[in-house]
This record gives sequence, C-alpha cells and structure tokens, in this order.
Amino acid sequence: MKKLILFIMGPQGSGKDTQAELLSKEFKIPTFSAGGLLRDEIKRRSPLSDEINSYISKGFIVPTRIIYQLIMNKINQPECERGFILNGYPRNKEQAEAIKGKIEPTFVILLDIPDKIAIERISHRMICPKCGRVYTVKDPNKDNYCEVCHVKLVRRDDDKEEIIKKRLELYHKETEPLKEIYKDKLLIIDGTKSVKEVFNDIKNKITKK
Ligand SMILES: [Zn+2]
Repeated sequence: MKKLILFIMGPQGSGKDTQAELLSKEFKIPTFSAGGLLRDEIKRRSPLSDEINSYISKGFIVPTRIIYQLIMNKINQPECERGFILNGYPRNKEQAEAIKGKIEPTFVILLDIPDKIAIERISHRMICPKCGRVYTVKDPNKDNYCEVCHVKLVRRDDDKEEIIKKRLELYHKETEPLKEIYKDKLLIIDGTKSVKEVFNDIKNKITKK
C-alpha cells in the first residue's frame, strides 16, 4: 500500500481522538496532534522548548511557523515512512497554507456533528483530577467516581458551556472553510453514530478509494 496521510477535522466532541487512535491501530501509522507535539517538545527540553514556553507562559498562541517546524521534524522520522495521521490540524487557512505542497493528505476526514450534539457530549465529559482519565457520564450533576482511583470526577474548565460555544463558533468560522481547500480529498463522515459505526464508515471509504 502506498503512503497514507490522513487529516482528521471536526469540532470538539466529534470523536477525533478516539477515531485517530483506532485508525492508527488499523493502518499501523502513528497519530499526532499539534498540542501533543508541543507537549513532547517541552518535555524533551529541546532547543525550541524555551521559545515555546515563552509563548505559552504569557498566554500567547504558539506561532504557526513553530508548529510547522515540529510537524515537519516529526513526519521525517522513520516511523512516519508509511504514513501518519494528523489529528486536528490544520485548524485554519494560515496553517493550511503553511503545509501546502509540503504535506499532501491522501484523505481529509471530517467528523460532522451538529453543535447541539457536540455541546451535549462535552457536557457529559468528566475527568479524574488524579489520573486524568476522561469519562462520559450519564448524569454530570451526580457524584461520579474514577474506576481506578475512586476519586470524585470533575468537569474541566475547558468543557464549560460558554467556552464550548466559543470554540464551536471558532470552528465554524476558521476550520470549516478548509472544506473548500480540501474538497477533492474530503470524506464527510456522520459523527453522530456510535464509535464503531463511525470507524467502519471511515475505513470503508478509505479502502474503497
Ligand atoms: Zn483516576
């Protein structure tokens, strides 16, 4: 099989991380995100990490050129020889322009879900403050506990409704227009179905083409 390069797009709550993991296992290619690469770089205390930290500590967004450099370093590693999955990137036109001609996706997977469902899903998401495991709970207003640590789960600040709404707005304004740029490679997937159904839909479309 030739090199498989997948981009995964979709709003928060559309299941990007879950599907990226499943696809990574299925096609035996690594998956990574811009946020993950930034965290790895900081952990490794690389020469770039001081510069990255200087932005993050001041609450600034890390510039596109730095993220671009991290992505290029990553995809030139032997583990990416057969392909890779870029999860949640590019997120806007500037980022798409930066990689144009350098990284050409085989497919761009768009996990499509209505805002209402995104909000509903995220509002049921809770996290263990001790181990960081993420759970989807039936009732977020009830006491819910981590299966491993037996600690009471909490909501993340990022998952509060106003913040979710702002992020969804940003997604519609900045990320959704990328559909036009990638229209020849776009696979629009109904993200409201179960994890397994969504995965099968993606897999079928990739292997058929
Ligand atoms: Zn825990």
